[in-house]
Amino acid sequence: MHTSSELKEYQNIINGNSSPVSSGKMMDSIDPATGKAWAKIPLSTVEDVERVTASARGAFAAWSSLPARVRGDYLRQIGDMLDEHGEELLNLETRNNGWVRDNYNYLNIVMKQLWYEAAGTASNMGSHGKTVQMGRDNFGYTLRKPYGVVLGILPWNAPLFTFTIKAAYALAAGNTVIIKPSEHAAVASLRYGELLSEILPPGVINVISGFGSDIGDALVSHKEVNKVSLTGSKATAEAITKASAGSPKSLIFELGGKSPNIVFQDADIDKAVNGLINGIFTRNSGQICVAGSRILIERAIFDEVLLRMKEKIQDSYIKFGNTLNTENTMGPIANLPQYNKVISYIKIGQEEGAELVFGGRSGGSILLPGDSDYADGYWVEPTLFKANTNTLRICQEEIFGPVAVAVPFDSEKEAIEIANDTSYGLAAGVWTTDLARAHRMVDKIEAGNVWVNTYGIVGADLPFGGFKESGYGTDSILDYTQEKTCVIDFN
Ligand code: NAD
Repeated sequence: MHTSSELKEYQNIINGNSSPVSSGKMMDSIDPATGKAWAKIPLSTVEDVERVTASARGAFAAWSSLPARVRGDYLRQIGDMLDEHGEELLNLETRNNGWVRDNYNYLNIVMKQLWYEAAGTASNMGSHGKTVQMGRDNFGYTLRKPYGVVLGILPWNAPLFTFTIKAAYALAAGNTVIIKPSEHAAVASLRYGELLSEILPPGVINVISGFGSDIGDALVSHKEVNKVSLTGSKATAEAITKASAGSPKSLIFELGGKSPNIVFQDADIDKAVNGLINGIFTRNSGQICVAGSRILIERAIFDEVLLRMKEKIQDSYIKFGNTLNTENTMGPIANLPQYNKVISYIKIGQEEGAELVFGGRSGGSILLPGDSDYADGYWVEPTLFKANTNTLRICQEEIFGPVAVAVPFDSEKEAIEIANDTSYGLAAGVWTTDLARAHRMVDKIEAGNVWVNTYGIVGADLPFGGFKESGYGTDSILDYTQEKTCVIDFN
């Protein structure tokens, strides 16, 4: 890291060194709470792509040849390193993407536990193979082998989480890794990469920042890149599929969602109301792939639940302000294009006839009056619409902001129909005290993750992935290995 002006400059991580990009160009990173530049990041070029792929390829033979137990030891050191640097990284992430710093869990579960979990899994890789006797004369067995160079492409909303979930298992399996963070939020990833490169051998972890439009195709189509794992939008998944067609490679896509959060009349209503609010509004302002953006409520309790949500929101449950202050519960939208998109969907909801239950306002000077620091920040109020149909654009399209729509239903069958009436299939929540109903809903909902009487919990030792247009594959150790089969004649 270098400081050349008032703004700190963060550099790519290539071959273990924090070296300046060849083009020398830098761009501002914007703090969404203030709308002002706070750091500088490299705008990499295709020459940097050549350097970074050569770095990762050069380190692969030695890294993949290490006993898995030794790779596991490195990963445990990374987990330990977070005791010292976790706070620093989380603060950088908050400046990057505006998520409120509320959260010890994020550090503990998402980052430390993932490194420790991946370290343990590495040592057990042998148990994933199988051995069979084929007839009288042959044994067959399988081995799990790393792909080679894995490219992890990150979204702007959760850089540290997506960096960790991609790098930890890919490295554990013996791959070397290139991380391409989003141009909107690269600082935390560049610093994370720097810290990792102080522990890992040179070239094992690399981080290259820049626009997808400048370096995306060159990275994805590169013959030295063997596997690509994207967390991002469907449009980028399409671009990657096309760009990689000439040099086919294994792909993981973790894409968007329009997740239903479903409340039955028999639910614990207090708990459900908290779950509905936290599922979309607090901490990340709805900028999370699993946001419970469609709130389906049994008609008999529809008005009551909406009223309770409104009262809770108005009762200062949502606190805007300094995102580094852990007492605040809701941050800004992470960047200007997304801010404009969220505001446009509030307008679309009004134009297509949905009724506003609460919210709808935006702008730092309106939502944080009297605090000039935030006047130009990208602040949007928690906003809830209600609608009688699931066909509106605000019910079907991912908004990725603190904007939800509530739709009533009359039966379990109808709740399932509405829940599945979306091209996405990432997540769902079910609030009920009827155990049999809970199991039926888990069985019938078309989504990769279903939460019952809770929402949004992820575990380091559980897979996380989507159904339908929410993607395929999970960032697990098996997804970062390819299976080799051997048949041997023993006569
Ligand atoms: P995005 O698709 O615009 O960008 C994601 C990344 O792809 C960025 O690093 C970008 O630079 C890069 N990119 C863009 N064009 C590229 C190209 N042609 N080739 C290679 N890389 C390219 O997504 P975003 O706006 O950063 O993130 C929001 C999206 O991510 C939402 O749809 C959200 O639901 C999804 N998301 C999904 C998960 C999940 O786990 N399923 C988690 C977080 C976010």
